[in-house]
Amino acid sequence: MTYQERISYLKRLKEVILKYELDIKEALYLDLGKSSQESYITEIGLVLSEITYHMKHLKKWMKPKRVKNTLAVFPAKSFLVPEPFGKVLIIGPWNYPFQLIFNPLVGAISAGNKAVLKPSELAVNTEKLIVKLIKEVFSEDLVEVVTGGVEVTQELLNQRFDYIFFTGSTNVGKIIMRAASNNLTPVTLELGGKSPAIVMDTKDIKHAAYKIAFGKLINAGQTCIAPDYVLIREKDKPSFIEYYKEAVTKYYGSNPLESNDYPKIINNRHHQRLLSLVKETTILYGGTSNEFKIAPTIVEPKINSKIMVEEIFGPILPIITINQIEEIKDYIQEKPLATYLFTESKKIEDYVINNISTGGMTINDTLMHFSNHHLGFGGVGHSGMGKYHGKHSFDTFTHFKPVLKKSKHFDVPAKYLPSSDKKERFIKHILK
Ligand code: NAD
Repeated sequence: MTYQERISYLKRLKEVILKYELDIKEALYLDLGKSSQESYITEIGLVLSEITYHMKHLKKWMKPKRVKNTLAVFPAKSFLVPEPFGKVLIIGPWNYPFQLIFNPLVGAISAGNKAVLKPSELAVNTEKLIVKLIKEVFSEDLVEVVTGGVEVTQELLNQRFDYIFFTGSTNVGKIIMRAASNNLTPVTLELGGKSPAIVMDTKDIKHAAYKIAFGKLINAGQTCIAPDYVLIREKDKPSFIEYYKEAVTKYYGSNPLESNDYPKIINNRHHQRLLSLVKETTILYGGTSNEFKIAPTIVEPKINSKIMVEEIFGPILPIITINQIEEIKDYIQEKPLATYLFTESKKIEDYVINNISTGGMTINDTLMHFSNHHLGFGGVGHSGMGKYHGKHSFDTFTHFKPVLKKSKHFDVPAKYLPSSDKKERFIKHILK
């Protein structure tokens, strides 16, 4: 795809998203009960700003990049030529059903690929709208949307693609990677896990509680990088809980279950799963629910209970007390997708940065490292592999083909056979 073609598709995509902004919000409201503002911040606006950024920088990114030569190849020109992988498969989850299909798509298109999109079958209204929007912008040959359940995804995985970009759970990530290996297809896996929030040696417990409540309760906790649980000193626990309650009231009013700003749980299966997680705990705050929503809840978990093993993915916050910073290692076992730290101590900050391997980290806030596309977003270990956003997305969907153009005017005769001690001595000067 030429630069002009890529730009015109990105421009068209932006126009169509703006044209259907209200329909997208409506679909997200029906699927997840998201408010208009939350839908704009966490889904529509993110995609629009990603498109704007790609359009601004694409010309520069597409240029072959000169790199240095080594002595062994001198004189020559060496450069990296960005080429698209070909046809990529993008599989999305239900929690940010719009953004997590369109954001990778922006990278795929700006890098010049064709794409097959498989949105989540659980966010049915958004899935329907994605089909409509894509048809308005792309020919089916360029970008196709395939809808359906698990069997449809499995069928897609039997086909050969040049790249697979998957966002979803760690368990399904393993299935994707296994299937990709049949064709040696490279993958990006954007997975989940249990992201800790550590509060230690800070006088500002209010700040920590407000930021953790914001990160936990956006999309009712159904966010891959939501703080999963809190590790805090015993002495700070009561004030943390009080400030958390205060934050909830400030954000969602005195009865969050009735608030139009407070999203619902995607379906009954997840609703029941979350309620069963609470059963094994002592409820310190909240714990109420209605047919669709679960109120912001703080619990004290029992050791080794299910809530401390599986990703919670809902508005329930276990709170665990620790005495020393070293104890965080007892709780952070798999490499998390995100880690949050609230501290005023440089020593604690250094300890966490240097001892915890994590996909990404925000200090003194939650979620926000996701919003800086210069950082790149992704997991490590069981929380995933590869990263995207901004230039990282272009790079993810690009093969940087190394090309060496050798000058005919000079050569190193010593590299040719027959061998001799003299030639080898010369080579040893270069390769050492
Ligand atoms: P999921 O893994 O169940 O489903 C994701 C996609 O995989 C869906 O499109 C689904 O159709 C497909 N799928 C499900 N089971 C499959 C199977 N057996 N074989 C082939 N395909 C299958 O995930 P989900 O429930 O939709 O989303 C929640 C998970 O996604 C959480 O773990 C969350 O942390 C993670 N997530 C990660 C990110 C990220 O950016 N890292 C973002 C959002 C969500």
